[in-house]
Amino acid sequence: MIDTLGDVLRNNAYKFPNENAYTYSGRHVTFAQHAERANRLASGLWKRGIRRQDRVSILAQNTLEFMEAYGACELAGYIAATVNWRLAPPEILYILTDSTPRVLIFEAQYAGVIEQIRDRLPHIETYLCFGGAVPAWAEDYEAVLAAGDVEGAPSRPTPDDIMHLIYTSGTTGRPKGVMRTHRAEIAIGILMATELGLIVSDRLQLMMPIFHVGARFLQIGVHIRGGSVVLHREFKPAEIVETIVRERVTMTHMAPTMVQAVLSVAGIDEADLSSLHTICYSAAPMPVPLLKRGLKLLGPVFLQLYGMTEGGGTTLHKRQHKPDGTPEEIKLLGSVGQAAPNVDIRIIDEAGTELPVGEPGEILIKTTSQMLGYWNNSAATISALRDGWYYTGDLGYLDEQGFLYLVDRKKDMIISGGENIYSREVEEALAAHPDIQDVAVIGVKDEYWGETVRAVAVVNPGVTLGEAELIEHCRSLIASYKKPKSVVFVDELPRLPSGKVNKVVLRQLHGAPAA
Ligand code: ATP
Ligand code: MG
Repeated sequence: MIDTLGDVLRNNAYKFPNENAYTYSGRHVTFAQHAERANRLASGLWKRGIRRQDRVSILAQNTLEFMEAYGACELAGYIAATVNWRLAPPEILYILTDSTPRVLIFEAQYAGVIEQIRDRLPHIETYLCFGGAVPAWAEDYEAVLAAGDVEGAPSRPTPDDIMHLIYTSGTTGRPKGVMRTHRAEIAIGILMATELGLIVSDRLQLMMPIFHVGARFLQIGVHIRGGSVVLHREFKPAEIVETIVRERVTMTHMAPTMVQAVLSVAGIDEADLSSLHTICYSAAPMPVPLLKRGLKLLGPVFLQLYGMTEGGGTTLHKRQHKPDGTPEEIKLLGSVGQAAPNVDIRIIDEAGTELPVGEPGEILIKTTSQMLGYWNNSAATISALRDGWYYTGDLGYLDEQGFLYLVDRKKDMIISGGENIYSREVEEALAAHPDIQDVAVIGVKDEYWGETVRAVAVVNPGVTLGEAELIEHCRSLIASYKKPKSVVFVDELPRLPSGKVNKVVLRQLHGAPAA
């Protein structure tokens, strides 16, 4: 029986010692090899005084060492506290101060960043460095492994121990440390494995950052089945396609922007992608025109996941074709799917009253893969978790069949002349213009209306599109009061590593009322 992520790792090393656990940069690592290195690291940390539920922080890009650090925590019951490497030094300092790790495992390229903040991190006793020159104040990761015992550390986690202290994307404010237990991670892994129909021969390609939950959940799911992971350090569209072909990848995971880039790779229509049964996408809305282009090119392989760091995976949508093979109705393509079997969903209004089918309100979720709470922040926990329900801060509605439609984040909703305007609806209308490549809307303060809608748009290369023409295009698709009142054309939208548009930055750059 598997109760903890340590059991999954041990099980695979026992049942499939010579099968592939990871492929990385053309290197293949078996389950036995991965388990041995994870055990050695667990032991090396134990010898440095690290004990069950101590925090071990990781600052690295997607690498095998990152997965080994996860593995050591899985086996010995340390808490893996991950850090988004794209953050600026003060933000990294905030996370490392909040999570109070005793160890920081890092890639050599971040030595300079750590150097700047190290004097403010008195709780970090051990620094382990890999992938380059080791600074004088750190130890060589490989040397620690070499001196570690293959039997691992003498401690093991319980199912209710915290496995992850994983920070949210920080889309709406400062990232929050989410406490996720082994029990919650096993629940999400089983959900992924069963709902996605994974089997031992599955090969999952991962290039979304493994310091966020999306990639991590899928990795757990595939490893619960004894399948393998093809790990990419970063996202390079042509390399993604080549790897699918070379490694016979069966499943991949991308943010919608990545799907767009991959579908634009030269020669994609000739590439043999027949091994691929599923392209999972999550984190941000997928424009319907893009999904239709993907379905036409690759067939019914797309699967949408909606979830969050706090709740895990909550809905899935894989019905993009009707039983007769024709594409689903456009409306249904826009849904994030139905609740997973271990998830309950409620939609409520501001007063907390449950809303009928079709009416948008805040999405509440109850699931066996829920977080324990926020680390070090009981006020945020009390407001987010009430009676076992997680208040997502997302707005959406359910249809008669229980399909969930997201309309906006509560914090992004625009109120103009007293009317609620959901940014997603406006963004979809704008994205339907054939010359639009990427688009997002924000609210701009307005003396008369309170707020007005402003679109920030990227047009296809070589095209010129006027503000008035784009606004006029929306007229036939959405009510007039929802149309943007102004448009700013840009070369690129600011995005977070998860692929989400960074609306905080977007508002800073383009949110000033017109003079
Ligand atoms: P923070 O909580 O720090 O503001 P965040 O909510 O973006 O950041 P995550 O937990 O990484 O942090 O992301 C979860 C959120 O991502 C969801 O609440 C939802 O708003 C959005 N999301 C997830 N899946 C989808 C999807 N399929 N389509 C649209 N949005 C999605
Ligand atoms: Mg959130």
